[in-house]
Amino acid sequence: MKLKGSCHCGSVKFTVSSSHPYPYNYCYCSICRKTAGGGGFAINIEGEAATLDISGNEYVSVYQARIADAESGRGKQSPGKRHFCSECGSALWVWDPRWPELVHPFASAIDSELPVPPERTHLMLEYKANWVPLQLGRHDKCFDRYPDESIASWHERTGLTDSSG
Ligand SMILES: [Zn+2]
Ligand SMILES: [Zn+2]
Repeated sequence: MKLKGSCHCGSVKFTVSSSHPYPYNYCYCSICRKTAGGGGFAINIEGEAATLDISGNEYVSVYQARIADAESGRGKQSPGKRHFCSECGSALWVWDPRWPELVHPFASAIDSELPVPPERTHLMLEYKANWVPLQLGRHDKCFDRYPDESIASWHERTGLTDSSG
């Protein structure tokens, strides 16, 4: 399906095609939580990077987090490029050069009606803030760090891949 998204002030608008639009992937890591997840987590969905069409690109800024490295004790820059509106601060999408064909918009930036997932994945729970309640559905899966399946595999397993383009 084609997804339409925007920042809050409207300076940035975008469209992207997605075969994997279900907002089931809740990330509680400190970066998502601080930059995009006021409720304690952010929800990443997936689109095809080649189809990303941006209006207001001049308002888009990029943040690359520094992640503390346990061994060296030094900060290491995350390759993930977190795009946000420089006017209003809305988190928009993440693009990572390790998976250049994909783009991960935040569900919070999408204006199109998204389908409701039958189950959810909660990841990076090791970094969850204590005040955030973990609200689990019957079939939800939990992971301390990364989940055991990609966003594409989740859609394949649940039979929810969208092939309408
Ligand atoms: Zn904005
Ligand atoms: Zn995260």
